[in-house]
Amino acid sequence: MAIVVIRQDNKLDAWKKALIAKASNTAIYSYLEDHPKEEITMACIWKQPSETLNLYPNLKCIASFGAGVDFIFKDHSVPKHIPITRVVDPVLASDMSEFVLALILGFFKNLTTYKTDQLQKIWSPQEYKRISDVTVGIMGMGALGEKLAEDLIKNRFRVVGWAKSKKIIPGVEVYAGNSQKNTFLSLSNILVCLLPLTKETTGILNSKLFRELPKQSYVINVARGGHLVDEDLLEYVNNGHLAGAGLDVFHEEPLPVEHPFWNHPKIQITPHVASVSDIDSVIPQLLENYRRLEEGLPLMNEVSREKEY
Ligand code: NDP
Repeated sequence: MAIVVIRQDNKLDAWKKALIAKASNTAIYSYLEDHPKEEITMACIWKQPSETLNLYPNLKCIASFGAGVDFIFKDHSVPKHIPITRVVDPVLASDMSEFVLALILGFFKNLTTYKTDQLQKIWSPQEYKRISDVTVGIMGMGALGEKLAEDLIKNRFRVVGWAKSKKIIPGVEVYAGNSQKNTFLSLSNILVCLLPLTKETTGILNSKLFRELPKQSYVINVARGGHLVDEDLLEYVNNGHLAGAGLDVFHEEPLPVEHPFWNHPKIQITPHVASVSDIDSVIPQLLENYRRLEEGLPLMNEVSREKEY
């Protein structure tokens, strides 16, 4: 039994070293070095090159380094019978919650406008919003959405949620399924997308949805670029129905330099940094799943292949 670490960014060595530091008796390889493919039983991955995971004949677990697994379902070379796990981590959830709170408060208090004004030496006070003025609607009441709701409530926000199934979360009216989507949207002055990217949710942030939001709503997408129809957002921000948007994720990352989001005064963009897997916090759960594999026990945080999350 052994682990292979697969990722194409500059964090490959850091994750491999950190895994080895916590599991010195386990054979752990980078996919770029020579390694015995038949020994590998667990692959810890982030945005793997296609035709990589099918090289391991005895693979028993594909572990995402993050909360999202859409990149695994997109790769048709990934063997269909192997369990997939993902990260569910309190640090990831509180980082996300802090980020969304920062975006909301920045929007309320016009902070990006003032930064632009500052660079041009313009002194121009604007009206601002208060927490009591709005209801925040969270699409996706999973590990991240639920923590965000909890923190928003602590900060005196009114919160509504939307999920696939019904659920009871203290202080939050949670709407479920397509039949309740428009009611949920009609209440959401700030709409936060925290859905997984699946066949059902691709392109969900589109004109049809924006039309259902109250006038002058603000849209925050911290889930995946594939949720948003970029042209529809531009249309609804430019026609004044939406007050603006905060976007952390994009169809193509880095966002191409010619993309209109770069220069749009009402669209705040950030380079996919809302919440990044913390090595120290995530490694114990990866190794716990490896131990469970060794002992033939059920894995933690397994993803449903049918639901794609
Ligand atoms: P979870 O799987 O815990 O939660 C997903 C939620 O979405 C659930 O409440 C689920 O409903 C709901 N949902 C799924 N499909 C639908 C649908 N068709 N209609 C309505 N609701 C639906 O995911 P997490 O909270 O852990 O993560 C959410 C996403 O956040 C990740 O998939 C990832 O893409 C993104 N992310 C972005 C980061 C960033 O830095 N920008 C960092 C980390 C994650 P139900 O509860 O009924 O199943």
